[in-house]
Formats: sequence, structure tokens, C-alpha cells
Amino acid sequence: MEITFMGTGTSQGVPMIAHDPGQECDLEDSRNWRTRTSAHVRMGDLHLQIDAAPEFRLQCIQNRIDRIDLFFLTHGHADHIMGMDDLRRFIDLRGGEALPVYSTDEGLQRVAQIFPYAIRPKPEFKGYPAFAIKPMPPLLETEAGTIRYTPLPHGRFQVMGLVFTEASTGQRLAYFTDCKRLTPEAVELARGADLVVLDALRPMPHPTHMTVHEAIEAARELKAARTYFTHMTYMVDHERDSARLPAGMAFAYDGLKVVL
Ligand SMILES: [Zn+2]
Ligand SMILES: [Zn+2]
Repeated sequence: MEITFMGTGTSQGVPMIAHDPGQECDLEDSRNWRTRTSAHVRMGDLHLQIDAAPEFRLQCIQNRIDRIDLFFLTHGHADHIMGMDDLRRFIDLRGGEALPVYSTDEGLQRVAQIFPYAIRPKPEFKGYPAFAIKPMPPLLETEAGTIRYTPLPHGRFQVMGLVFTEASTGQRLAYFTDCKRLTPEAVELARGADLVVLDALRPMPHPTHMTVHEAIEAARELKAARTYFTHMTYMVDHERDSARLPAGMAFAYDGLKVVL
């Protein structure tokens, strides 16, 4: 299994006009140049796309993404949904067959509101997007492996937490972005996984995201072989703050590819 961190940032804050001067990240370090959070997972022969940030098209070019078989929208917030129109080229590659789009009720409603022209079995015109929207089941079985869905709290609604288990290797990868905390079910599904990805917004508390400290505590509970943090603001400096992380934990950065 393999994960590419296409984007690891958030819409909150801008370093040059920081709320808290002195806490900015060092823009000389390219690992602090974060586009909004998206990830691409290869499980067996399947190419799985998690979210489409506003920078999705450029993220695909930078990361050489040339195929998408299934799309997972964790939730309908702008930083995860606004790049979905740019799935069009991948749909064209499928001969215009609608791309399966899995999400929660909230996520699918947002897709229908923002991209009503794309909810159809075939594109309206060649090259246009077409989405086959599907409520995410608790367990999605494919020949390449299984994908489990567990709801995670994120303010007024819940986000899709995803756990991928590859059939050929048994490798397990959990992807938990945009959550205030883990639930007992999420902990059970992800405990001891080969790789876990967790929301770690910033040092300061936030009502709907885990802080770096809260993410470290969650990672300790999960005891994964490797944990990567994502969805960081400019308040996280890769070099400075990595030194403070326990062994086995790291901040992801745009373009990072991890092969399990
Ligand atoms: Zn969100
Ligand atoms: Zn987000």
C-alpha cells in the first residue's frame, strides 16, 4: 500500500499576517508550503482519492496522479470539496463513465449543491465531470481490499474516518482528518495499524480540530507503527516542531509519499 500526501494544509491563517507574531513557520523551508488537505492511496491495483482540495489540479500534476478509480469525500467543507470539478480528466479517462463518489449524507448533499451538473451517469459533454454519488457503507469490499468507514466528530456534523486494509499484504492504513477527537470505534479499527494519519491543526485549542498535543495523545493510544500528522496551519513549523514529536510520529508535508 502507498499514500501520497498531496496537500497537508488548511484554509486558516496566513503567515505574513499572523494572529500571533513569532509563531509563524519558516517559509524558506518548502515543507511549510502547504496546500489544502488531499491524499491519494494505492491499495493493490486500485487508485483511491481522498478529498479534492481547491489546489487539487496542481496537486495532481505535482504528484503525477494519472488515475483515480474511487473517490472519497471525508466531508463537505470547502477545503476538501472545491477541487472536485477537476476530477473531469480522470472521468474522461474512464471513457466518460461516472466516477463513484463516496461520502456521508452531508458530503453528498454538498456535492449535489455545488456540482449539480455532474450528478449523472455520463458527462453532459465530453470532458465534463460525472459523479455516481453513493452513501459510504460501514464496510466497502473490493478485490484489492476493504475500506471501513467510521464517523468522527467535527463540529456540527461528522466526518468520514477511513481505514484501508489491503488484501494481498494485510497492511492497514487509517486516515482521520478534520476531527476533534477519536471515538472508541475509531480507536478499535485503527489500533496497531501500519500507518495512521491524524488531524493536528495547530498548538492552540480549536473547537472542531485536534491540536498537535491532542493528536500526539491520540497517536499514543493507537500505537501505530507510524503516525503522520496533517491539516496543519502556519503555526506548525516543520523543522522546529518535528524535534518535539515522540518517536514514530511526524508531520506530513506536501508531496510526501510513504510506501508501506
Ligand atoms: Zn473540515
Ligand atoms: Zn479541512
